[in-house]
Amino acid sequence: MDTIVIQPTGLEQAAELIQHGETVVFPTETVYGLGADATNPDAVLKIFKAKNRPADNPLIVHVSSLSMIEEVTSDFNEVAKTVAKHFMPGPITLVLKKAAHIPDAVSAGLPTVGVRFPKHPVARELITKAGTPISAPSANISGTVSATSFSDVYRELNGCVGGIVCGDDCEFGIESTVLDVTGEIPVILRPGSITLEMLQEILPKTRLHPSLIEGTEEKKPASPGMKYTHYSPKAEVVLVYGKMDTIISHFESHLDEQECLFLFSEEYDTFSKNKMCLGTKTDLSQMAHEIFRLLKRADLEGYQKIYIPAVEEKGIGLSIMNRLKKSSGGKVLSL
Ligand code: AMP
Ligand code: MG
Repeated sequence: MDTIVIQPTGLEQAAELIQHGETVVFPTETVYGLGADATNPDAVLKIFKAKNRPADNPLIVHVSSLSMIEEVTSDFNEVAKTVAKHFMPGPITLVLKKAAHIPDAVSAGLPTVGVRFPKHPVARELITKAGTPISAPSANISGTVSATSFSDVYRELNGCVGGIVCGDDCEFGIESTVLDVTGEIPVILRPGSITLEMLQEILPKTRLHPSLIEGTEEKKPASPGMKYTHYSPKAEVVLVYGKMDTIISHFESHLDEQECLFLFSEEYDTFSKNKMCLGTKTDLSQMAHEIFRLLKRADLEGYQKIYIPAVEEKGIGLSIMNRLKKSSGGKVLSL
């Protein structure tokens, strides 16, 4: 398939592709999305095909106004409206009862639908110009690392989609927080840049789904997508626990040619071997912004193994670790 590369100034062409039932990749503030008309079942199926996505993993529906949320859901309740008032547009997805006209292919047969109102001007303009909600999962082959830059998207999906909108690198760098607001107590199904702590400030009862809490017996995944292997580069990923100076001195003598250590800027200059920089450890939003891009870069540079320092599972650190535990498939090194 020929893929058209579209500039953000030429969104009419991208909107036309969507209206004609084609797939279009576009930038958002979280990661790039692989979109199609959410009301057109054939178009939606093209997303699953392009990504090789399991059919039981539902898609998030992207809208460009609060009134569009009313259109794609059947119960935009008070809890959801409170979250929307504080955090929309932005990097959060609300799971709500779906409207009848949203195809089962979108919701993977569930009675609910995930809805997101992105902040990114290009995403919003595309939805508005297309005149329809756009269902869009992350723009990557299922199981691999989400794309956060145009070059990563182009390398992986050129030839698999109708169009790619060429935008900037994504601001947040990890996917949206998914919040189930169908009940009285909001439940985080997937942690993201809108953190548990931020949500509890406005809705104190907000909690994490039990499967996201270490040491609980809950085995059922928080949402269908959480049961699959995810965020995996080709290289093996190992999470490293320990003090930074111990980590540095260990790898000074143990890092092979084919291996790479991700480091924070505070220690970066002190390490003499293969390394990539996660930004400062005093602001983990930088690590969130960088992490997927660096995993992809490590693959491109041919590394076989990537060591990443574990971070405290609090705030955005919880969301980063949620992704990295999947990338590593549970492989850890304690120093
Ligand atoms: P992606 O768009 O690839 O980042 O994945 C979307 C995530 O949202 C997946 O983990 C889905 O399982 C989850 N999701 C989407 N819709 C729903 C829904 N209706 N109920 C629960 N989880 C959902
Ligand atoms: Mg994804």
